[in-house]
Amino acid sequence: MIPTHAKLAVYEAPNSPFQIREYPLRAPQAGEVLVRIRMSTICRSDIHSYQGHRPNPCPGVLGHEIIGTIAALGSGVDKDMRGDSLAIGDRITWSEYFIPARNYFTDVLDLPQKSPGVEKYGHMAVATSPHHHGGFGEYCYVLPQSWILRLPEELSDEEATPINCGVATMIAVIEAAAIRVGQTVVVQGLGLLGLYGAAIAKARGARAVIGLDTIGERREQSYRFGVDFAIDPETTNRSDILHQVRGICRPEGADAVIEVCGAAEVIPLGIEMLRVGGTYVLAGVVNPPAMVTLDANLLLRKLLTLRGVHNYHPRNLVEALDFVVANRRRYPFHELVDAKYPLERVDEAMADAAERRVLRAAIVP
Ligand SMILES: [Zn+2]
Repeated sequence: MIPTHAKLAVYEAPNSPFQIREYPLRAPQAGEVLVRIRMSTICRSDIHSYQGHRPNPCPGVLGHEIIGTIAALGSGVDKDMRGDSLAIGDRITWSEYFIPARNYFTDVLDLPQKSPGVEKYGHMAVATSPHHHGGFGEYCYVLPQSWILRLPEELSDEEATPINCGVATMIAVIEAAAIRVGQTVVVQGLGLLGLYGAAIAKARGARAVIGLDTIGERREQSYRFGVDFAIDPETTNRSDILHQVRGICRPEGADAVIEVCGAAEVIPLGIEMLRVGGTYVLAGVVNPPAMVTLDANLLLRKLLTLRGVHNYHPRNLVEALDFVVANRRRYPFHELVDAKYPLERVDEAMADAAERRVLRAAIVP
């Protein structure tokens, strides 16, 4: 039975404390799925929204890296993306976004993630029906024109929850970087995205992955996720970094450099690390403005490719799940979700995540 009401953690305005409030639940409508949330992890973009760095309607409900079990199915939803049947009690993940309808971006450009009117879970005002559309709560409606995947039993909640944002995004990034067997990759930023990026690059056959991060613990941890050489960009000067990168990526630089640290000032150094014909992918500088001064002549002279990645194609969600299932014994993905909090302690979870005291905080309602 579906309860008549369920809890959500709501914030009135940026940086104001969360309040636990109850909102009505109804039976899912056509094309919807009602999910009992098992876990929701705090993504950097939740923190950006909460701190007011990106416009988010308030009072709001956050959380888009979510998994849960099906509590009720609306009419017309009986299969996941793969065609596997969906039933009450199944544990699922789903795309972090949904779209109003098929359109030019879905049918012609093959960029559904950029469809006009695209909305993201955990990015809407709580007043917007059906209220439960974010991860920091007990229930969430998976809305029509979302992409759903049933989760295999062997995956733990800790391994499964980051799949629909962190992992799928990095699958899209590595796809954009077009990493090939034997290539070399530099990852600027060894947070959750950087660690998955290193592991995915290795799975695509990269022979060497170099990671840069100012936090020593993250550099240490990165060696267990496919990074071969971790460099501290704060204590190593620019010419030494370039010298080291060129030494590893012989003869003259990296095949691909990936920015996942969210700091635009790292871009010029990243571009310098590339070989002729290399590819630079931006995925961390998600908030405007991200101004940078760079020598555009280098782009031209070195025949570089510059790519941006924001959101991901639905196929990347399938690939992300399959990647984690296939590589969970090779890389300790379960340890990336390193702190759990009940819904009532969302404030503490957000503070720990914002201050980087934990890598991925999880709300377990
Ligand atoms: Zn996210």
